[in-house]
Amino acid sequence: MLIILKPGREKSLFRRHPWIFSGAIQHVDEELALRQAQDIASGSTVDLLSFNGQFLARASYSPHSQIRARVWTFDEEPVDREFFRKRIRASLATRHSLLVTKDTDAYRLIYAESDGIPGLIVDRYGDVLVLQSLTAGSEIWKETIADILVEETGLKNIYERSDADVRELEGLPPMTGNLRGTMPHLPITILEYGLKFLINFESGHKTGFYLDQRANRQRVRGLARYKDVLDCFSYTGGFSINALSGGAKSVLSVDSSSDALELCKENVSLNSLSAAHHTTLEGDVFHLLRKFRDEARSFDMIILDPPKFAPTAAQAEKAARGYKDINLLAFKLLRPGGILVTFSCSGGVDAALFQKIVAGAALDAGVEAQIVAHLSQGVDHPVRLNFPEAMYLKGLVCLKQ
Ligand code: SAH
Repeated sequence: MLIILKPGREKSLFRRHPWIFSGAIQHVDEELALRQAQDIASGSTVDLLSFNGQFLARASYSPHSQIRARVWTFDEEPVDREFFRKRIRASLATRHSLLVTKDTDAYRLIYAESDGIPGLIVDRYGDVLVLQSLTAGSEIWKETIADILVEETGLKNIYERSDADVRELEGLPPMTGNLRGTMPHLPITILEYGLKFLINFESGHKTGFYLDQRANRQRVRGLARYKDVLDCFSYTGGFSINALSGGAKSVLSVDSSSDALELCKENVSLNSLSAAHHTTLEGDVFHLLRKFRDEARSFDMIILDPPKFAPTAAQAEKAARGYKDINLLAFKLLRPGGILVTFSCSGGVDAALFQKIVAGAALDAGVEAQIVAHLSQGVDHPVRLNFPEAMYLKGLVCLKQ
C-alpha cells in the first residue's frame, strides 16, 4: 500500500522524525493495494511517498489514529522477522554496553521509537520480560517479536501488559496475560544497584516499576544521610528504600495507593532496613502537604515524584498549577539547607518550563534556593535526537538556603 504526502510534508521525514499525522496525507492508494492483493488492515506496512513519487520511508499504518503512520525504516528494506530481529539485537547490545547488569536485573530492553520499534515497550524484571504493545503496527508483529525475544534473550517468560489508555486511540482493546512461558509466583524480586524490590507486574503501575528513576533513586541514596526525608508519591518505595539505605534518620512515604504502600513496607524488611525509621501514610499529597504546613512540620529532604499531570502541551497550564502548588508547599516544609528533589514526567511540560515553575514556587514561598543538579530518565530510556518526544522525565535537585 502507498501513502502519498501533501507537498512540503516530506520535510519532517527528511529530518528523520518517525510520525506522519493524518493532515499530512494527500492520498492513500488503497486501489493499488487491492490490485496487488495486499492487506490494508490496521497495522499493515505501507510505503510513504512524496507528492512527486519519491520513496521516503516504510511505516506501519494506523487508520484510527491521528498519528496515521509510524516509520519502521527509512530504507527500502523488507519489514519482516529478520528486520525485527536486527532491531531487537541492537537494543539488547545497547543495554549491555550501557548498564552495570551485575547490580541491576531490571531495566528497559526496548523503548519504542528510541529503539526503532514504534509502539513496543519491553521491560526486563529478573527472568521475566513484560511487554507493552501500544500501536496497530506493534500489535501485528507482537507474536513474531515475542518469539524473537525468547530466542535472543534466552528468557522463557513474557507477560503482556498492553492495558495503557493510548491503545484506545489506535482502536485496540486492552490485553493482558501470559504471552510466553509460565506465570511466576507474584510478586517477584528484582535487584537495583544492590537493593531488592518486590514487583507485581500483573497489578502494578505501568509494567510494574518506574525503571526510569533508577539513577535518580541512587542519587537520593547518596544525599539522604542523617536526614528526615519525606517521599511524596512514593509508590512501592523506590526513593524511600534508597534514602533508608543511604542512612536517613527517618523516612515518611506518602501515596494514595494502599497496595503500593504495602509493598513499600515489605521492601523495607526485604532489604533488612529498620522499620523503626520508616512510616507510611496513605492519602492525597496535595492535602497532606497543607496539613503538614498547618502543623508546622519540617523535613531535611523532600522528594516529589507525581504522576503525569499533562500528557500533552494542551494541558500544560493546568499541570503548571499542580506542580507549582506542591513545590511551593515543599519549599515551605523544608528546613534551611534542606534538599528538594522534584520531578515532572509530563510530556507537555519541557525542562525549561518545569524549571520556571519551580523557580516561581520558591519565589512565592519566599525562599532562596539553588539548583545543584538536573536529572533525567535513565540510560535505558534513550532519546533519539530526531525524536525528542521520547524525553519526558525532568528533575531538579534544589538546595534551600
Ligand atoms: N517515586 C516512585 C514512582 C511514583 S509514581 C518510584 O520511584 O517508584 C506516582 C505515584 O503517585 C503512584 O504510586 C500513585 O499511586 C501516586 N499518586 C497519584 N496521585 C496521588 C495523590 N494525589 N496523592 C498521593 N499519591 C498519588
